[in-house]
Amino acid sequence: MNLVQRAVGAVVGSAVGDALGAPFEFGPAGAFFSRFPIPGAGGEMSGGGGWDAGEATDDTQMAVHVAESLLERGGLDLPDIFARFQRWAADQPKDIGLQTEDVLTRGLPWDQAAAAHYRSSHRAAGNGALMRATPSAVYFARDGRQATMDAARHIAALTHGDPAAWEGTAIFHDLIRVALDGADPLDQLSHTLTAVHPDHRQRYAAILAPSWHPDQATEFNGAVWPCLGSAVWALRTTRSYADAIRAAIDLGGDTDTVAAVTGGLAGAVYGPAAIPTSWTDPLHVPLPGSGGRTLHLTHLTDLARDLVERPNSD
Ligand SMILES: [Mg+2]
Repeated sequence: MNLVQRAVGAVVGSAVGDALGAPFEFGPAGAFFSRFPIPGAGGEMSGGGGWDAGEATDDTQMAVHVAESLLERGGLDLPDIFARFQRWAADQPKDIGLQTEDVLTRGLPWDQAAAAHYRSSHRAAGNGALMRATPSAVYFARDGRQATMDAARHIAALTHGDPAAWEGTAIFHDLIRVALDGADPLDQLSHTLTAVHPDHRQRYAAILAPSWHPDQATEFNGAVWPCLGSAVWALRTTRSYADAIRAAIDLGGDTDTVAAVTGGLAGAVYGPAAIPTSWTDPLHVPLPGSGGRTLHLTHLTDLARDLVERPNSD
């Protein structure tokens, strides 16, 4: 499998996880397996909970906005990403994270809004920056560990003032980078952790360890730590893209986001051919803030290829 295929696997894999998990959001553990007990039997991309079959949510919508900014601006333009997020938030997305909405609609400049939210709430370690990180992880992978993790921190900080959210997103960026290289991101975890800020390293090391299980989470998986930990657990304890996604959604809670994060990792590891066509055929991404566009599989595939090849960067 080549780099472009792995990149397509990551971008499409994350969107598929998001769409497949959406109908189960805030549901109990075990709901997915009890409804779809036989792997591969089909019918899983069924919609529900206000979502059409195959419809991706805010996770993928924000990820696409990041991707299009990186490609159109030829690199990291943080005010541009923030402006796209604001246009998206103002165009009535079906779902938007509470924290993200507060930051994007408080009328402060791009480099002050998230910090102001964090100062007033003291709670800003949601998974809302991690959920949209696959395209930027693909884009910055070629620049190496330090550069991709720094880019992750900057993009996360647009909406999340808590450095814990920056570090979790940075870890995800590096795991994707390793997977795109064709290596096993779980084998390289100790190296990734050396690049995590010391204040946050121990907590992430614990939650990403082979002995950790999602049952041990001390917060709802809408928080960045158990969300990333659950995605890594799903990847580690399964042997295929589909099984990883099934395991992630079956945890319950913030199912679309846990599956979107899992899907980015598993898609990069197993590649696009491992993603069931019964899941990719109905996949679509309505994109508020884009003048009414809806993206389908071919658009996401082209986007992933461009993120790797960076046609406008030099
Ligand atoms: Mg969502």
